[in-house]
This record gives sequence, C-alpha cells and structure tokens, in this order.
Amino acid sequence: MASDPIAPLRVNHHKQFELRDHSTDATLGWHKESAARELGRVKLRLDVLQQRLFAEKQRSVVLVLQAMDAAGKDGTIRNMLSGLNPAGFRVSSFGVPGGPEAQHDYLWRVHAEVPAKGLIGIFNRSHYEDVLVVRVKNFAPRAVWSKRYEHIRGFEQLLADEGTTVVKCFLNVSKDEQRKRLQERVDDPEKRWKFRLGDLDDRKLWAKYQQAYQEAIGRTSTAAAPWYVVPADRNWVRNLAVAKILLHHLEKLDPKMPPPEDGIDGLVVE
Ligand code: AMP
Ligand code: MG
Repeated sequence: MASDPIAPLRVNHHKQFELRDHSTDATLGWHKESAARELGRVKLRLDVLQQRLFAEKQRSVVLVLQAMDAAGKDGTIRNMLSGLNPAGFRVSSFGVPGGPEAQHDYLWRVHAEVPAKGLIGIFNRSHYEDVLVVRVKNFAPRAVWSKRYEHIRGFEQLLADEGTTVVKCFLNVSKDEQRKRLQERVDDPEKRWKFRLGDLDDRKLWAKYQQAYQEAIGRTSTAAAPWYVVPADRNWVRNLAVAKILLHHLEKLDPKMPPPEDGIDGLVVE
C-alpha cells in the first residue's frame, strides 16, 4: 500500500508474535540506488514536519531503538539525523544504570528523558533493557521483571494520552551478520572502541535474548505504541525503513503551524 509502505514491519497486536517469522535481510522490494534517493525525499519531508511539530509545541515523539550489539543503533541515529535540524531532536542513550538511576525504579530515568513538547526524542536503548538484559542475565528475579510488561504498557499509554507518540523499532540482525560486524570491530582500530569482551557473553546468550525480545515485543506492541521489526542486515534497508517509520507517524500527527499573533496578517515590515 503506497500510503503505508512500512505496514508489513509493524507488529500486529492482535496476532501471536513470532520473531523467527521476521527476515533479517529483506530488501522490502527496494533497490539500493533508488533507496538513497528515496531517503533524501523522506528526509526533506521529515524536516518540514519536524519544524511544524516544533512550532506547534503541542505534541512530541519518541523513537525507541532496541537491538543486539552491532545491529546498528548508533548508525541509524547518525544516518537519521544527518541533514536534519539537531535543535529539533534529543538523543538519549541508556547504559548500565549507575548512581541515582540505580537507586530509583527503572522507569525513572526514562521518564526524565521523554522529550518536551515540540521535540523528537531518539532512545538508544530504553526501559526495554529492564525486560531484556535484566531478564537474560538474571539481574532481577522473575517475580520482579515479569511485572514490567504491564508497567511498560501503562507507561507508554500514559505518554500517548498526554501527547507523546511512542514508536519502537527492533533492528533485527542475524547472528552471522553480528559475527561479521563484531569481528570488524576487533580488527578495525577506528571501530575497536565500541567492542567489549562482554559483547561475546551476550552473543553466547543469543537464543535467550531472542526469546526475551520475542516476549517483550509481543507483549508491548499496542495501538498506542507499536513495535516495528526492521530487517537490519543491510544498513541501507534499515536506514530507509526507520526513516519511513518515523515519517509515517509524523504524517499521522499532522502537526500544524500555530496561528499568527493578532495583527501580523498583512503587516508590512518597514
Ligand atoms: P552500549 O549501548 O554499547 O553503550 O552498551 C550499553 C550497555 O548497557 C549494554 O550492554 C546494555 O545491556 C546495558 N544496559 C542498558 N540498560 C541496562 C539496564 N537497565 N540494566 C543493565 N544493563 C543495562
Ligand atoms: Mg555495545
């Protein structure tokens, strides 16, 4: 459907979600060269709508990016924001909770990063870590993390009700593609800073992470805050898909320029 080309990536909350049914290397019928041009057009439109959202100052948007290591969260953010107005965006990265973060409930630090009205927030990891790494590595007992799916649905519904659209993308990379990319990080001095030996521990837990992602996505994809499973083995597909997903939701919001102050219409500046 031309009006909603990313619909096939959206997780239908009425259906049982199976992560293994989702391709990691699909091209979605796109071609690399024309996709670059298409991305340019999507960016131009994003720029217009971002500016309107900013001027309107009534609503905000959060784009949540979740993925295994090396799936391309950082690359997606870099690509998405290039050519757009940095003043309209707020990027938030969530690492291992430390200091006051560790002394509060898991949503505390996330809520504090929700963008103000008019802004688009991009979350590099998020509250989902608290049902992913925390579950897989037993950082909290099942009795604690198992309640969080419901908290998360409630939290995201609250944001939606109060004017913040939450859109969530899982960058779906294959285990073999991750191997290649981690190897590149080891071998390339410009990329090595991103590699941690602990990444290999997470890689060993691949199946458990897939299970945790399946449950997290299946249980928290809602009409108010949908999940998208984005094929991420090809960077150009991933970049265009995420840009289109954000654009789709901005088009749906349809932000409007605020009415001019009284007395501006027809004013002649001397
Ligand atoms: P990176 O995104 O590569 O900078 O790594 C951030 C690390 O922080 C990842 O290993 C995440 O799993 C970890 N992390 C993020 N949130 C949490 C959390 N709530 N509890 C434990 N670890 C987390
Ligand atoms: Mg990392």
